Amino acid sequence: MQSKQETALKDPFGREISYLRLSVTDRCDFRCVYCMDEKMTFVPREQVLSLEEMQTIAEVFVSLGVRKVRLTGGEPLIRTNVLGLCRELGAIDGLDELVMTTNGSRLATMAPELKAAGLKRLNISLDSLQAERFRRLTRTGKLEDVQAGIEAAIAAGFERIKLNTVILKGRNDDEIEALVDYAVGLGIDISFIEEMPLGSISEHDRAEAFMASDEIRERIAARWDMLPCSGKVTDGPSRMFKLTGTDSRVGFISPHSHNFCGECNRVRVTAEGRLLLCLGHEHSLDLKAIIRRYPGDRERLQKAIILALDLKPERHYFDHSNEPEIVRFMNATGG
Ligand code: SAM
Ligand code: SF4
Repeated sequence: MQSKQETALKDPFGREISYLRLSVTDRCDFRCVYCMDEKMTFVPREQVLSLEEMQTIAEVFVSLGVRKVRLTGGEPLIRTNVLGLCRELGAIDGLDELVMTTNGSRLATMAPELKAAGLKRLNISLDSLQAERFRRLTRTGKLEDVQAGIEAAIAAGFERIKLNTVILKGRNDDEIEALVDYAVGLGIDISFIEEMPLGSISEHDRAEAFMASDEIRERIAARWDMLPCSGKVTDGPSRMFKLTGTDSRVGFISPHSHNFCGECNRVRVTAEGRLLLCLGHEHSLDLKAIIRRYPGDRERLQKAIILALDLKPERHYFDHSNEPEIVRFMNATGG
């Protein structure tokens, strides 16, 4: 098997891939209005990668130079024995950062064990601080559970916690300042994400609900002094700003208004084992087919992944006036 190296994963545009987003399930206990339709069909269980298969895939990516793995979904914390997977991944030699994106519904009980398993940082999604509105936006979620989860995560001592917030015009844009206040009060970060056209949803009109990051940033700048962060703390596609006089940073992930593809360093693996080269395209490789046909053949997997990098498109072309450009939903993508 090829040994650890920095640059085994390079795409045709010279970008080096050091970051893997691994979806551990496409299922979820929430049905957020921008992510899923009310009635969803999920992947049959036998088509979902086993935890052992996920571990193998993660190990192979690390052997090729990946340094950061984010577990996501669906909701990663509803996958049975996700803690066992975290422990295995947390122990991979050469993996610098194991992190997770979660809706927080189960964090109140799981946060300490996740920390002990080797998870360094958490992104927790939160779109409203009003219980009834939170329930409407998530269709099933309980705000109090998520807030208890956020507090438990802070108490568990993660290196960094960041809230992820999708703002929909007319739905929760009146809470931008309150959400920043909440993050500042807890000494954690917050990122605002522009809604992306993934999957066909009927609940709202994405063009009407679209709110550009610049508009959100202006609102925040009217209340706080914002200093642009530089270097590693920019956190991938998120443009980060320190709020002066606080311990918090605010980020903006703007797939529509500020294309970030030039610096892309990531690929995704879906819960059914599809290696997705870009969020905004269908170019992919079926890793599950390889792993199940040739169990234990890591070299074959390595070679296939290196070759697949040739498929990585230069950029996505999201346009908030058209929808949906990609038929797969965010939960199936590994958001
Ligand atoms: N269930 C976990 C959660 O909600 O944090 C992890 C998976 S979720 C798909 C990851 C992130 O994608 C969440 O922060 C969510 O708000 C965001 N997301 C989902 N659908 C989106 C969309 N259509 N556009 C932009 N962000 C989206
Ligand atoms: Fe579930 Fe996360 Fe999608 Fe909401 S955004 S439905 S919590 S996967």
